[in-house]
Amino acid sequence: MTRRALIAGNWKMNMLRADGEALATALGSGFAADAAVDMLVCPPATLIEPVARTLSGSPVTVGGQDCHMNESGAHTGDIAAAMIKDLGAGYVIVGHSERRADHAENDETVKSKAAAALAAGLTPIICVGETEAQRDAGEAEAVVGSQIRGSVPEGAAEDTIVIAYEPVWAIGTGRTPTIDDIAAMHAHMRKVAGGVLGGANKLRLLYGGSVKPGNAAEILALEDVDGALVGGASLKAEDFLAIAAAAT
Ligand code: PEP
Repeated sequence: MTRRALIAGNWKMNMLRADGEALATALGSGFAADAAVDMLVCPPATLIEPVARTLSGSPVTVGGQDCHMNESGAHTGDIAAAMIKDLGAGYVIVGHSERRADHAENDETVKSKAAAALAAGLTPIICVGETEAQRDAGEAEAVVGSQIRGSVPEGAAEDTIVIAYEPVWAIGTGRTPTIDDIAAMHAHMRKVAGGVLGGANKLRLLYGGSVKPGNAAEILALEDVDGALVGGASLKAEDFLAIAAAAT
């Protein structure tokens, strides 16, 4: 089974409109329309619409970084999945470890958000990953397995969601697991997700955590790694395009 790789950029809480539009312009012109991989950028909510407009007509797609679990209502400051879709997004990240830590999101919250995304016609990118203490204690696979079982909503299918493995200790640190550890974790994830979804041959599993042009090719060549979720290196067009090129 050949899965088409997805190279997703998480811009986090960075950039004002001019910089966001300039980065989108550079990606739109630098990413080949006939590329063998999918490219996605997830700007802050304020920039989804201008970035989507800048990228219209280009193969680069746009996503959100979070959504609320409810369709609408009295949730000051929150954004519903349908609102993100309405701005031109096709994906939304849910359960990023920074949201799990900063906003006390747990698997139940993440599952509800992923369900809301699916209901709105968005593809949720469900993030999972262990802390350093959990890896040191030999619990990484158990933690990630439990997060997958707890965060994937009923009704999800292998081709309607994406799961990203992002070890918390590798995010923004320049550190990554060994290539063997990444391979083993992704094989484990496909097995667990296959049990939850009734099959996982089509499921795209991303690796995230300090992916750079220099390490992307080795990581993306792994059989069960179907792309990358990239933070810091997605803020520079040259680096992000190089990571996408490494996936082909
Ligand atoms: C992320 O936060 O999703 C991420 C992977 O960040 P970085 O690439 O900077 O480690």
